[in-house]
Amino acid sequence: MQKEVLYRKWRPKSLTEILGQEEIVKLLINSITHKRLSQSYVFSGPSGTGKTSTARVFAKSVNCENYDTLKLDISNCSCASCSSINDYSSTSLIELDAASSIRQVEDLTEVMLQKINFLSGLNKFKVYILDEVHMLSRHSFNALLKTLEEPPDHLIIILVTTDPQKIPQTILSRCQIVEFKSIDESNISTKLVKIAQSEKITLTTKDAHIIASHANGSLRNAENLLEKCILKQNNNGIDENLIRYTLGIIADDIPVKILNYLYSEDLSSALQILNEEIIKGSSFSSIMSGFRKTCVKLIHSKYGLETKKSEISKMASILDITIIKKISEIINAEDIINIANFRLNLEIMFIKLFELFQIPSKISSISQKKNTDQIESNDIKIPVNQNDLIQPKNKPVQSESNSIHSQSNLTKFIQAFEDKNWHWKMKTIKSYKVHENLLNLYFAHKSQIDMLKVEINNPENIKLAKTATKSIWGKELLLNLKLTNNNDKTNDASDKTNNASDKTNEALFLSEASKYGKLISLKEIRNEPKKS
Ligand SMILES: [Zn+2]
Repeated sequence: MQKEVLYRKWRPKSLTEILGQEEIVKLLINSITHKRLSQSYVFSGPSGTGKTSTARVFAKSVNCENYDTLKLDISNCSCASCSSINDYSSTSLIELDAASSIRQVEDLTEVMLQKINFLSGLNKFKVYILDEVHMLSRHSFNALLKTLEEPPDHLIIILVTTDPQKIPQTILSRCQIVEFKSIDESNISTKLVKIAQSEKITLTTKDAHIIASHANGSLRNAENLLEKCILKQNNNGIDENLIRYTLGIIADDIPVKILNYLYSEDLSSALQILNEEIIKGSSFSSIMSGFRKTCVKLIHSKYGLETKKSEISKMASILDITIIKKISEIINAEDIINIANFRLNLEIMFIKLFELFQIPSKISSISQKKNTDQIESNDIKIPVNQNDLIQPKNKPVQSESNSIHSQSNLTKFIQAFEDKNWHWKMKTIKSYKVHENLLNLYFAHKSQIDMLKVEINNPENIKLAKTATKSIWGKELLLNLKLTNNNDKTNDASDKTNNASDKTNEALFLSEASKYGKLISLKEIRNEPKKS
């Protein structure tokens, strides 16, 4: 398909060509160099940020015959392994799309478990990339769990997802999590200029930036938008007018103009501008993205991240932060985003914003102030670096005193965070122990701890954790995030001291039991005293 030409043509051929994910590239390169590969990864993040491309070039790197000689940049390597991956004929890289090809557990078991045991003599690793893994059925996840618990040495599984919330805890807690971020606009525009140059098309950095700013942090989107412009251009040049016309992009100042009218209670002028934009061919997504960007700029101006004087900074100075938050809630509401009739939806959005501005902002600022005060006075401490973590001194960790309901306690604790959009990160908790005033949470990978710390270490979430531990364990507990290691006997399902048949039994048990309810970890069941 024409639309995919640029995207395919410019697909990275080496880890060094991955755009805007420097930390991730560094981590993966180091893991290859120091031979510390994990056997199971979750690559999560927004679409178009390079997850699948990174998985592919990572698979290429671990199997490249010349990797050590070429020192990282294997983009032009023509060893047998790289060539076979480049022309999609490799038997050591298997890509599966959970959305289309493997819904059934039978398929998954057959495809994975059988093929995993076969490795062509050529390559060191067999790499499975499971795209859109959140689409797997519960049965398929159970089959996958069996493989993750006893992976053959030469196996690497990469689970790729845009929606980690939908992946079961039993899976998440066994994988190294790699979180992709949206790609910076300036990175994207630099790349677009480079592509245009090689396609012999004139494109200035400023104009490339307009395309980049409408790609939602996705390189793939940006490349597809550039493709559209290339198809419309004359004389081998792309300028601002062509871009705005082709992509139906509104001018940057339109959303704030509309907000100004609504703030001045002039709904009719706001609707008039909308009408003009629709006649010009501006798209719904561009109008919405314009409003979202304006919200971000309002917040940045409000807190001094953006210091340039503009219409937006003027508006930010008169709006309370609570009102800005409400504006963004109205803009992101689901009934607005579902485009049944986009014009009607936008008009309703305008009316909601208009009504919002009629409510005196003072009321909201007072209630906000009260909440903040409460949060601050109830602050509790979470250790933030490894050195702060309290280690048990060579004695077995005491069992929790009230562990009769321990199975459901961790579930309850995790559920306390279910409204958070990072709730899935809580599911990387592998097991827990209550010890005195500490709630020790155990993780299989440091990446999981780092990710969760970023979220949980703020006043609002500390307060939530405190309330949750109080209601579940009857006292306020300090959170202590730790790696599962051999010194800490947590009786975890994947503990290395377990023998192989134990593991198989546990896997079977887990897969069976999880049909009847949410299971967190086998360790919790073992800890549960037998009821008389
Ligand atoms: Zn190679």
